[in-house]
Amino acid sequence: MADLQAIVDEIHDKLTPRLGEGKVADYIPQLAHVDPKKFGMAIIDVDGKVFKAGDCDEPFSIQSVSKVFTLTLALGKHGETTWNRVGREPSGSAFNSIVQLEHEEGKPRNPFINAGAIAVSDLVLAGHTPREAIGEIVRFVRYLADDDSIAIDPEVAKSEQATGFRNFALANFMRSFGKLDHPVEHVLGVYFHHCALAMTCTQLAKSALFLAASGRNPLTGHTVVSKQRARRINALMLTCGHYDGSGDFAYRVGLPGKSGVGGGIMAVAPGKASVAVWSPGLNHNGNSLLGSLALEMLATRTGWSVFGQ
Ligand code: GLU
Repeated sequence: MADLQAIVDEIHDKLTPRLGEGKVADYIPQLAHVDPKKFGMAIIDVDGKVFKAGDCDEPFSIQSVSKVFTLTLALGKHGETTWNRVGREPSGSAFNSIVQLEHEEGKPRNPFINAGAIAVSDLVLAGHTPREAIGEIVRFVRYLADDDSIAIDPEVAKSEQATGFRNFALANFMRSFGKLDHPVEHVLGVYFHHCALAMTCTQLAKSALFLAASGRNPLTGHTVVSKQRARRINALMLTCGHYDGSGDFAYRVGLPGKSGVGGGIMAVAPGKASVAVWSPGLNHNGNSLLGSLALEMLATRTGWSVFGQ
């Protein structure tokens, strides 16, 4: 295997002069305060070896990266019937787009756009109060990362609750089509809180390791999902994980990945390693500019693209 620590150090060194590029998300007021020059990266291989650089142990708001965890939970609870509520096709639209919902009668294209993740939050809520559902999500992520210190940043959740008008519009729209089972306030309470999970790159890479290792976390020995489900979640991350930048990410990086507007990206090299990178400046699709570049450099240096060397 390539010398991963040398590669991570090289990526960090090459990107250091560019720190601060891109635009920090400011539509969630609490995120606007983040230092745009932060950069962290962590890789964990399937043998459990960790390679890291920069601000990799500083927690940041994982935002939409959390949608992978809630989807995994919803699939665990509802199995294939999950797909009655949300599709599996790339949207080709912005992360918070409302236009397709009208044509598709309240069934969102995929679980990683905001509308789709709101539908998934509704599924996770089944049989729970919002507080219980949020607790279940936090416990699940702690179990995945084997780290009980992981928590939600309540200020970020509050900030989004106060300004998430578009998400309220999406949820009300779905509710009007009878596509949400629970009150909009409850569903969005769950959604805003899981988006406000704060994690480090190291924690995020650990929590994704099961997707790199056929459903089983090699660090803990826990089987999280079946091989087939891990493969399918990876397929969804590859096709839908970067909103309308998913095609470009597949072209440049070639790894299943999920981005968030906090500047984090979680990526999976199946059979090899999980990776997390954080740089708050975003590109025009709302994906981390330098984070995508770091993953592109990593894929080039390792030959890890799922499409071949
Ligand atoms: N909580 C964010 C929102 O709903 C998530 C967006 C993202 O990370 O892409 O706007």
